[in-house]
Amino acid sequence: MTTKIEINGVSKWFRKAGQEVKAMEETDLLIEEGRFVSIIGPSGCGKSTLFNIIAGLIPPSTGRILADGEDIAGKTGHVGYMLQKDMLLPWRTILDNIILGMEIRGVPRKEAVARAQPLMDNYGLKGFGGHYPAELSGGMRQRAALLRTLLYDRDIILLDEPFGALDAQTRLTMQNWLLEIWSDFRKTVLFVTHDIDEAIYLSDDIYVFSGRPGRIISRISVNMARPRHKEDTVSASFMELKHHLLDLLSSGSPAEEAAHIS
Ligand code: ADP
Ligand code: MG
Repeated sequence: MTTKIEINGVSKWFRKAGQEVKAMEETDLLIEEGRFVSIIGPSGCGKSTLFNIIAGLIPPSTGRILADGEDIAGKTGHVGYMLQKDMLLPWRTILDNIILGMEIRGVPRKEAVARAQPLMDNYGLKGFGGHYPAELSGGMRQRAALLRTLLYDRDIILLDEPFGALDAQTRLTMQNWLLEIWSDFRKTVLFVTHDIDEAIYLSDDIYVFSGRPGRIISRISVNMARPRHKEDTVSASFMELKHHLLDLLSSGSPAEEAAHIS
C-alpha cells in the first residue's frame, strides 16, 4: 500500500484553441505518511489539475509522481480521490453509492454492505442507507461521498474542496467530522480548499499556490495542538497565521520562512 508520494518537477500544459497554455508550473511536493496537507490558491491555479495528475487520471507534461519510489504517472488506483463535484449517482441509494467503489473492484455485494454499514452507523449516516441523494442535505451527501472514498481503502486520500458548497455552520460540523475520521483511520490526507480558516484548522502543512499558472510560493507548518476546537480559530496565533496567508495569497510573492503557531 502506498504510504508516501513525491511529486518532482510536475507541470501541466493544456492545448486550448490550438495553443499550448500552461496550467501549472513545475511543482515539487512531498506527501508524508499520516499527515494532513492542504493546498490553497486562487481559482484556476491548477489545484484540481494537480489532483487529477496524482490520481493518474491525466498525465503530467513534465516530471514524475513517485509512490514509495515507483513512478505512477498516468496510473490510477494508488490513491482514494473525492472529486470537486461529489458525483453521487442520483438513481442509486446512499448505501449503493457508498459501496460503488468496492463493487467496481469486484467485492461481493454482501461483503461490501457488511463493511459499509458500521461506517454509516458510526459516522452520521445511520438510517440513511435506503435514501436517495436528492433526499439528503449537502452535508449528508458529502459524508456519503467521503465514506465511499474511504472504503476504496487507500492510505492516501485526495479531497478537492469537499465543503466548498456548504453553509458556514454545516462546514464546521463537517470539518470536525473529517478530523475525527482522519484520527480514527490514520489516513494521509491531501486537501484542496480556498478557505484559509479551513486550511489552518485542519492541516499539519499548508502549501500556498500562486495564481495561474500555479506554483508553490510557500509551505507553512501549523503547529497547533490536536484535537482542535472551534475556539482555537479566534486565538491570537491563529489570526497571525491567517494574516500571513492572506498576505501571501494577495501578493503572490515567495516566502522562504515557515510560519509557526503553537
Ligand atoms: P483550480 O482547481 O485551481 O481552480 P484547475 O486545475 O481546475 O484549477 O484549472 C487550472 C487551469 O487549467 C485553468 O485555466 C483551467 O481552465 C485549465 N484546465 C483544466 N483542465 C483542463 C482541460 N481538461 N483542458 C483544458 N484546460 C484545462
Ligand atoms: Mg478545482
